[in-house]
Amino acid sequence: MSVPKRCNRCILPNSCDLIPFDSDGTCKLCKAVQTEDPPLQPTTAPVISLEEHIDRIRQKGKGRKYDCVVGVSGGRDSTYLLSLLVNRHQLRCLAVYYRTPFTSETIDTNIRRIVSRLGVDFEEIQLSQEYHKKVARKMVLLWKKKAHRLIINLACAPCKLLNREMYKIARKHKAPTIIYGTNIYEAVQIAPGISKKQTVVRGGAQVASVSRKIKSMFSLIASGAKLLIEFPVLVRYLWLGFKSSIMYISPHTLYLSLRYPGIKTFNYFYDGRWDEADCEKTLNELGWQRPPGCNTSWKADCSFDEIKNKMLHQTIGITYADAFFSNMVRAGVISRQEAIQRIETEGKISEQRLQEVQDILELDAQFWD
Ligand SMILES: [Zn+2]
Repeated sequence: MSVPKRCNRCILPNSCDLIPFDSDGTCKLCKAVQTEDPPLQPTTAPVISLEEHIDRIRQKGKGRKYDCVVGVSGGRDSTYLLSLLVNRHQLRCLAVYYRTPFTSETIDTNIRRIVSRLGVDFEEIQLSQEYHKKVARKMVLLWKKKAHRLIINLACAPCKLLNREMYKIARKHKAPTIIYGTNIYEAVQIAPGISKKQTVVRGGAQVASVSRKIKSMFSLIASGAKLLIEFPVLVRYLWLGFKSSIMYISPHTLYLSLRYPGIKTFNYFYDGRWDEADCEKTLNELGWQRPPGCNTSWKADCSFDEIKNKMLHQTIGITYADAFFSNMVRAGVISRQEAIQRIETEGKISEQRLQEVQDILELDAQFWD
């Protein structure tokens, strides 16, 4: 297998059709950093500091049982977030968790042990694992017939419903804020990564304006309609597709903000620095374990990610790890050299985990032939 040529500034492979390269071997995203606003840093200083955000959250929580609801997957970043909120900021948190069909035993054990160690209340989201598995299997089989990157995304549609569940739980407990631990370096997804607008990450409290939300809603409807023309069989998943994109694609959709007006969301790592060394140290102290066979602690919470990366690589020539490490290089957090070294190990698809997913989805042994 030939090694893909990578951008001479970040490590994006030039095999990805979605990201154009200049003739000098630099990708458009790196070019944007050189010539325009930096894509991964706020273009203006944050309006208020992290401490002020946390203070406001604490004020709003006065007289309530919880200051905030925190989504935890048992993975690296949400575990780190929970520990910061509890130990550094002394917020009263309710940890909310959903065990997906692709959550390993190790991850499940991690989160149960760690919430109890941190003394945090814990609530589980009850969604049908069978349905989740069925949708994922259907999309993987459909992708096999005709590879399309949006079909890969649809396999993850059931998890988007969690965005709704988080609001429901916050409302049930009268918690005024939901805090998310989305890693700022993965906030830029692969496909829209070419759009400069979407690569500018601003303060977590004001993620997008209403007009931007409406615009993105229409663009989602348009891509959904195109996909439906190409894959008429998806008509059976129309409602799921609508919910998982228009209504709940992120915690910050127009629908959710109108449906739950009293509840605010906050992306901690958009304002608070995500410090990888501190994250690893904290996880060690908490006794967090990486699942067997997993090549990286990033995205260790979902073994479906292995098959997703394999499908993405075969469809658009890039994986999430390529995008993640490239974002870190562009933001000046790691060197290109370090990213090249790390992608060799951490970017490798784990055959063991891939096999686990294939078993869960009951794919036959010849699936990749
Ligand atoms: Zn680049």
